[in-house]
Parts: sequence; structure tokens; C-alpha cells
Amino acid sequence: MNQPRTIVLLHAHPDDEAIFTSATTRWYREQGHRVVLITATNGRLGYDPQGRPGPVAGHDSSATVTARLGELTTSCRLLDISEFHFLGYDDSGMQGWPENTEPQSFVSQDLTGVAEEIAAICRAVAADVIITYDEFGYYGHPDHIKCNQAARAAVALVPSVSRLAYVVTPKSLFRTFVPVAEARGAVFPAWIKVKSLGWSDEDVNVDLDLSAYAAIKQDSIRAHATQIDNADIMNMDPEFFRLLFGHEFYVDAWRRDGLEVATTDLLEGIA
Ligand SMILES: [Zn+2]
Repeated sequence: MNQPRTIVLLHAHPDDEAIFTSATTRWYREQGHRVVLITATNGRLGYDPQGRPGPVAGHDSSATVTARLGELTTSCRLLDISEFHFLGYDDSGMQGWPENTEPQSFVSQDLTGVAEEIAAICRAVAADVIITYDEFGYYGHPDHIKCNQAARAAVALVPSVSRLAYVVTPKSLFRTFVPVAEARGAVFPAWIKVKSLGWSDEDVNVDLDLSAYAAIKQDSIRAHATQIDNADIMNMDPEFFRLLFGHEFYVDAWRRDGLEVATTDLLEGIA
């Protein structure tokens, strides 16, 4: 085995670790690397256990938080996450929601303080690589964007970090597969339908074929059972799910060595 490395995943909500980086997690864990998950918010504005979306009238945010933490624990177990840190900020909701400005919301927090909090975890685990969302927060969620900003600030504070990578999806995948899946009756959550979603294929520099981990990825998404906007993905035929979600893609956002060499692996070239 190569020298064991430590990858830190910085995610905004319970279920993002499943949707975005679960196959990557299992793959690196099976190679003996350490994968540390930081989840920034409590996901209070997700669907509550009665299936009410946040924050409609009657939505039970405290039951939502409890349910989602339980689901996250199950997901971490399935993915064999080495270590889990829960920052506990309030889910800020989508852009423009009044919850954005509440004092406990993640986006209301001072960026320097959040970056230092994340950096302290990264220093404690001697992080080699940090993975988070791109500057657009993958699909524009303010909490994802805050993770991006905090991660960019944190890498400067942690000497062990060699690489910051963003989890992305090439535009061609959306163009090709979403219409095919919809023709087969799949209904995707609204964020998958955002028109500007995805990166130009030529800019995506790490393409991990993780088809062998598609089943575990689908299981981890299913672990977040209250989040029913993902129901079609949870219930998708496993073979079709593998075709759609069998790869996880990354772009290099920053490398300490400054090199711009194409790599096929997130750990390649780390001194
Ligand atoms: Zn999220």
C-alpha cells in the first residue's frame, strides 16, 4: 500500500457526504487512507420526518435535526468514515430565504472564525487533502459556498495540506444522462435541474471510476431516508444508478507545489 494519507471532506449538510463523495470515501478507506468528515450544519431546513419541507408552516426543525443526525451516523458507518466532526451551525436555507440572516445560520458566521475552526481540525488530523464544493457551491446553496470560502482560507493555515480539490460533475454527464433518466421516469431533485450546473469537461482533471462502489453510494443516500426529494435516486434500479453515478469527478483548486500536471488520483504527487 502507498503511504497512508488523510483526506478531509468539508460538507455543508447531512447527506452531502453521501451524494457527492461517498464512493471516493469507500475507495480510499479500502486502500487504508484516513477519511475525516466535517459536516458544517445541522440540516434543520431539510424535510422533516413527516415529509414536510423546511421551512413551510408546521415544519418541525428540531425533529429534522434529530432525524438527520441519526441518518448521518448511519451513513458514516456505511462509508467507514474514520472520524467525524459536526460543527452544528444552523442550515441557512437557499439563497434569499429569511433564515440566511439568522444569527446561528452558517452563512451568518464570521469567515475567519469558521476557517480557523476547520483549520484546527485539519491540523489535528494532519490533513493532506481537503475536498469541498466549487466557488458556486455546486448548485448555488449558500452553505456550500460558505464551505468553499472557508476551505480556501483554511488551506493557508494548515502546513500539511498539499491539495484542495472541488467535487464537480462534467456538463456532458448532465446533458447525456439526465434526459435519458427522465425518459425512464426518474424525477430528480430541483438542484440537478439548475441550468448552469456542471464544469466544462476539459476542466475536470480527476475522473475516478468508482462503479464498483455504486451500490454503497446508493445505500448511503438511502440512509438519509427523510430527504424524500432524493427518493427517485434512492429507488433507482441499481444498474442504472451505477451508469449515472458510477464516477466521482474533481478539479484541482489549489496545490501547494503549484504544479498543474494532470493526475488521475487525488493523492498522486503528494510529497
Ligand atoms: Zn448540501
